[in-house]
Amino acid sequence: NLTLYFFSNIMNEIRVFSPATVSNVACGFDILGFPLDSVGDEMVVRKTIAKGIIITKIEGYDLPFDINKNVASVSAMALLDVAKPDFGFEIEIYKKIKPGSGIGSSGASATSSVYALNELLGRPFNKLQLTEFAMKGELISSNSEHADNIAPALFGGFTMVKSLNPLEVLQLPTLKDLFVVIIHPQIEIKTSESRGILPKMVSLSDATKQMSDLGGLIHALHTSDYKLLKKSLNDHLVEKHRSKLIPYFDELKSKSLAAGAIGCSISGSGPSVFALVKGKQMAINIELIFNSIYSKSNIDFATYVSKISSDGVIAI
Ligand code: ADP
Repeated sequence: NLTLYFFSNIMNEIRVFSPATVSNVACGFDILGFPLDSVGDEMVVRKTIAKGIIITKIEGYDLPFDINKNVASVSAMALLDVAKPDFGFEIEIYKKIKPGSGIGSSGASATSSVYALNELLGRPFNKLQLTEFAMKGELISSNSEHADNIAPALFGGFTMVKSLNPLEVLQLPTLKDLFVVIIHPQIEIKTSESRGILPKMVSLSDATKQMSDLGGLIHALHTSDYKLLKKSLNDHLVEKHRSKLIPYFDELKSKSLAAGAIGCSISGSGPSVFALVKGKQMAINIELIFNSIYSKSNIDFATYVSKISSDGVIAI
């Protein structure tokens, strides 16, 4: 009996860690991102005799159990449409990344479900195909197909989405002493607002500066050049508009740079702000600075310090 064979000899259950991700990364608007090492969700996926997907548990935050509304199940169903196994899967979501934080909450769910299913099916798909499935999940959280959180979460390290259609992903080198410090002010910024605030047209000189900095950033990663990385982590297109929605942004940026951070900008579409730094001690110093700036406000916030993950989503 084939079903009995499946359920006795092959892995039936997997627990995965799915990282939070910083996307955009200053001059990499819409195309660049990296995953964190120590901040992320967990998910358990188990085979079921019944076909299809069901979500049996969601802990941490209030998210839909409806499989057509949760990004985890939507991306899983995109994979099942192609794989067509004669059994199904149940999903338990242990959400640690607050939805709408700007550090890839929905992306973490979209990637962990397709990664887990692929492992349980004996890895029929490669990372690029998994990214395509996960994009279907992201589509329902943001109304646009994008991969700048899920590609880094699936590939690990600095990752560039070179093109969406056809999907092309480039894995860039990651400098080994890089740490990231994140502050998440617990304010709500509506996606429509953070999109609507962006100009439809940009000036030629701003576009030129952005291209020059993106080229500099990529060269810096390939040559381990921290000085060039510092000179390149600028955003000439988006940050000046979106930062108006983030209280104390200018202070977070100027004080962290003055204290030695390599760069500081908005994570995703905000409200989280990230700083890239060299070494753990500097990361701790910058976290203290972020803390002291927000402590004088009455806004709740959380801070995180992490290395950049070179693995992305992994089985644990
Ligand atoms: P972030 O800003 O952290 O990347 P998003 O804005 O991408 O987060 O996604 C949050 C939106 O996606 C919310 O509207 C949330 O209800 C929806 N959503 C649906 N399923 C999930 C899920 N499994 N995890 C997180 N958010 C989800």
